[in-house]
Amino acid sequence: MVDDTDRERIDDTLRSGEIESAQREIESILERSDSQQFSAGDLCWLYRKKAQCLFMRNEYSKAGVAARTALEYTEGEEARHDRALALNMLGIIHGELADYERSIEYLEPAYEIQRDLGGDRLGSLLNNLGNIHLLMKSYDRALDYFRRAVDTGEERNDRWLVALGTRNVGRVLSAAGRTDEAIRTHRESIRLFEETGDPIQEFHARIRLAEALDVAGETDEAEHIYRDCVAQSFARDGISWPEKLYGSFGRHLAGKGKWDEARTMLERAIEQLGDIEDHENLPEWRSLLSRSREIDGDLAGALSEQRYAFDVLSRLFERKTERRLHETMARFDLNRIVREKDEYRDRNVQLERALEEVNRLRDQLALRNAELAELATRDSLTGVFNRRRLFSALEAELQRTRRYGHDLSLAMFDLDEFKAINDRYGHLVGDKVLTGVAETLMRSTRTTDTVARYGGEEFVLLMPETSLDAAVSIGEKLRSAIAESDWSHVSQGLTVTVSVGVGVFRHDKSPQEFIHRIDMMLYEAKEGGRNRLVTFGPVSGGGSSPHSHA
Ligand code: GH3
Ligand code: MG
Ligand code: MG
Repeated sequence: MVDDTDRERIDDTLRSGEIESAQREIESILERSDSQQFSAGDLCWLYRKKAQCLFMRNEYSKAGVAARTALEYTEGEEARHDRALALNMLGIIHGELADYERSIEYLEPAYEIQRDLGGDRLGSLLNNLGNIHLLMKSYDRALDYFRRAVDTGEERNDRWLVALGTRNVGRVLSAAGRTDEAIRTHRESIRLFEETGDPIQEFHARIRLAEALDVAGETDEAEHIYRDCVAQSFARDGISWPEKLYGSFGRHLAGKGKWDEARTMLERAIEQLGDIEDHENLPEWRSLLSRSREIDGDLAGALSEQRYAFDVLSRLFERKTERRLHETMARFDLNRIVREKDEYRDRNVQLERALEEVNRLRDQLALRNAELAELATRDSLTGVFNRRRLFSALEAELQRTRRYGHDLSLAMFDLDEFKAINDRYGHLVGDKVLTGVAETLMRSTRTTDTVARYGGEEFVLLMPETSLDAAVSIGEKLRSAIAESDWSHVSQGLTVTVSVGVGVFRHDKSPQEFIHRIDMMLYEAKEGGRNRLVTFGPVSGGGSSPHSHA
């Protein structure tokens, strides 16, 4: 678990700018996650913070990977807020890599979640989305997002968000060359920042207004604002954005031909940059300075300024190219890692599916094998057990009988004049008769009994734990049931009888011998006129002579 004090400490470390040490701490906590149980929420937070550290260290592709990992821990409804944060982080990272389309792909769902949840970051998300669209020069969409930020601010009575959104709307209008609207909007944002008591933003808004007025040709008011700002900047210890103020004012003055003052402002702007050499306005300021020296007749000075301007320009170009290259490589890196990760996950999913399929097939196979095993023991026509199964059952029962001395009886049934039935009614009817007899045998016997088809029209009933007396009465009951059956549904005028031999296990040396003995009784039943039962042995106290029932 990552407790609140852990989180606060890491956040504090980050805020104090000790990014590397924050990152080290996060890594060491993450190492514990192998042995310790961390919740998805904890892991998401840790990876998001790790992404933040890497982002601040300009390691964008690594930051992207960490943010992607954070995103993976945000499944489910309750993790939606975390999900929005991770998506937002990814959007910012991709924005930094100038991968704007993808950035938007992340920021938009983040925005939707925040909107649904009524999240407090909705405004900043809208501003992020607007900024990306502004960078892409899709001004209409940028305006749409910034205006939505304003609306959100109004709805929530968040005046600062209204002011910030308004400022951003003004930025887009200026960039899009819609100067009149830009001027109105900048005035509005000045008023709003005044109202919220944010002097720094108010100051920036004034400079933006002056610039827009310059573009519109309203130079008097522009000059008035610039002078006011410069006076203010002197009145304060430090102002933010001084180079912008001095640079823009310098440009304004140069435009009016007030070269002396222009030079002072431009030099001050450059001075403010210190050793920052790749400021985007620097070439313009140097060129203006060159022009002012030329006007003064200082041609050498003019030339030297022009050379400066050129140097800066080529350096800027070089840096820009370098940065583009770096961005492209990082973007490529990140996309590759993400793709590999996705592929890995896809492959895992595929593997899991394949495994499921294998398990399913294995279950099916087991079931099918059981069915086949069952089938292998059954007679296909009648569904009773086959001869093979009869002998294995007989073997097992004989062993039990020998061990426990329980009675084991067996009855053998042979259909009478079956050949004649086939001849008269056809083979199909013969088959139906066989099935019908088998059904009668099955229906009237116990589950511990085994009914089997012994030969073509011969059936055996094996009755464990059954005395000869009982077996005889069962056999007799079955014989008469078959003889009295109504077979008219099979064929008109059809009658079916069976001859039965019944015996109990005595001293037979093998199953075959046991069966053979009963077969002999069956033969006697046939000899005795068919449709009768013959047994041999002590039935109801009888001797060892055959007994006949009919
Ligand atoms: P008995 O009363 O002496 O037993 O006379 P039987 O006609 O029943 O005896 P036999 O052994 O002469 O004939 C048996 C007949 O059973 C011969 C054969 O065509 C028939 N049969 C054997 N298996 C099947 C079968 O699966 N279907 C049909 N329809 N007939 C069968
Ligand atoms: Mg026969
Ligand atoms: Mg027969």
